[in-house]
Amino acid sequence: MWRELQLVRKGDGLDPTVIARLQSSLDSLTDDEESRAHFSAVFYTGLFAEHPLYRSLFPAGMESQGHRFFRAIEFVVKNLPQHRRIRKFLTQLGRDHRRYGVEREHYEAAGVALERAVRSMYGTSAHSRYKWTPELEDAWSQFTDLVVSTMADGAESDTTPALWGATVVSHERVLDDLAIVRLEADPPIPYGAGQYVGVQIPQRPKMWRYYSPAIPTNPFGQLEFHIRKVSGGWVSPAIVSETNVGDRWVMSTPLGGLEVDFTSDRDVLMIGSGTGIAPLRAQVMEMSQRAHNPRVHLFVGGRYPCDLYDLETLWHISLSNPWLTVVPVSEEPENPWWHNGPVLEPPFGMHSRLIGPIGKVVSQFGSWADRQVQISGSPSMIKTTVYALRAGGTPLDQIRHDPLY
Ligand SMILES: Cc1cc2nc3c(=O)[nH]c(=O)nc-3n(C[C@H](O)[C@H](O)[C@H](O)COP(=O)(O)OP(=O)(O)OC[C@H]3O[C@@H](n4cnc5c(N)ncnc54)[C@H](O)[C@@H]3O)c2cc1C
Repeated sequence: MWRELQLVRKGDGLDPTVIARLQSSLDSLTDDEESRAHFSAVFYTGLFAEHPLYRSLFPAGMESQGHRFFRAIEFVVKNLPQHRRIRKFLTQLGRDHRRYGVEREHYEAAGVALERAVRSMYGTSAHSRYKWTPELEDAWSQFTDLVVSTMADGAESDTTPALWGATVVSHERVLDDLAIVRLEADPPIPYGAGQYVGVQIPQRPKMWRYYSPAIPTNPFGQLEFHIRKVSGGWVSPAIVSETNVGDRWVMSTPLGGLEVDFTSDRDVLMIGSGTGIAPLRAQVMEMSQRAHNPRVHLFVGGRYPCDLYDLETLWHISLSNPWLTVVPVSEEPENPWWHNGPVLEPPFGMHSRLIGPIGKVVSQFGSWADRQVQISGSPSMIKTTVYALRAGGTPLDQIRHDPLY
C-alpha cells in the first residue's frame, strides 16, 4: 500500500478516468438525503465496530457529524480535478483534526472504513442496482490513499500546539440573538487576520464549531468573537445565552486563507453580512497599522438596519483611514416593529445605507473585475453573492470565501 501511496503522491493528482469513476459512483450511491445519511452511518458504524475506543472522540449525537463527513467527502470528490486545491484542503483538514488527538493509524483505520462503507452501499446481491467492479475498487482505494496520506502528512507537518485554552472576560448581548464574546488566550494564538479557529465551549463538550476572530492577534492574547444564535442550533444558542465570564474555551489550529494580497496591484472589495464581518473587520483593523494599503470597499449587510450592529466601529476606522470606504446595506429599509433602538445615521462624509440583498446591491455598481474580492457570511449569502458578482463580470478566480460548512 505504501508504494501505491507514493505513486499517488508523486503524480499530479488522480487520473481523469479514476476521477470520473469516483464522481459517478458517489452521485449514483448518494442521490438523496436518506442515502447520504445512510452512507455516513455505515462509515461510522463500521469504524466504531472495528475500533470501539474511537467512539469517545466524537459527540454523543452523531447526526450533524455525519452530515459534515458527507459534505467533506462530496467536496473532495467533486473537486478532485483541482488537485492543488484539494491537497490544500486535505492538509488543512489534517492539521485541524489534531484537536481530536488523531494520528496516522486513525486515518488508516478511517480509510479502511470508508472503502468498506462504499462497497457495502453497492450491496452484495447479484440483483443490486449498481455493480461493484474491480475498477471501482481500485478507484476508491486510490481515493482513500490520497485522503489518508495527505491528511496524515498535513497533521504531522504542523509543529504548533494542537489546542489553546482561553478564558472569557466579557460577554455582551448586542442584539437579542447576537453576542460579542471577549477572551484572553494563554499563550496568544498566532492566527492571521481573516482566519478562523475551531472552538469548543464548556456547555457543549466535543461539539466543535468554527468562529472567526474579529480582531487581529496581539501579544496579550486578547480575542473577540461575534456569534449569532442559529435557531435550532446546538452551540451558537448556548454561546449567546449561557456563556459566563470565567468560562474556559478550547480552540484549535487557525485555518483559512482570507487575506489581502499586498503584492497585487488590485484594490480590494470586501462583502460581509451579519457576523460574517468578523474576518473582514480583523483584516481592516490590521491594515490600519500599515503605512500603505490598497483601496478597500467594505460592504456591510444585514436584514434590518438594527442588524448592522458594528457599524460605528467600522465608521470609526474609516474616518482615520482614507483608503477604507464603508457602505452599509440592509435588505429592509426599516427596523421591525419589535426593535426600539435608533437607526444610526452616517457621520459626515460616510456612505448612506443602501437597500436590497447585498449581492444585488454590490453588483449594481457594475463589474468588480479589477478587484481582489472577499465574501463572508452565511452559506446562502455567499452563494447568492458569488452568483451576482459573476453575472456582473467578476471572474471566479478573484473571489475568495471560507468553506461553506
Ligand atoms: C469558516 C467558518 C467561520 C465561521 N465564523 C462564524 C462567526 O464568526 N460567527 C458566527 O456566528 N458563526 C460563524 N460560523 C458558523 C458557525 O461555525 C456555526 O455553524 C453556527 O454558529 C451554528 O452552529 P450551531 O451549533 O448553533 O448549529 P448546528 O447545530 O451546527 O446546526 C443547526 C442547523 O442550523 C443550520 N446552520 C448552521 N449554521 C448556519 C448558518 N450560519 N446560517 C444558517 N443556518 C445554519 C445547520 O445546517 C443545521 O440545520 C462560521 C462557519 C464557518 C464554516
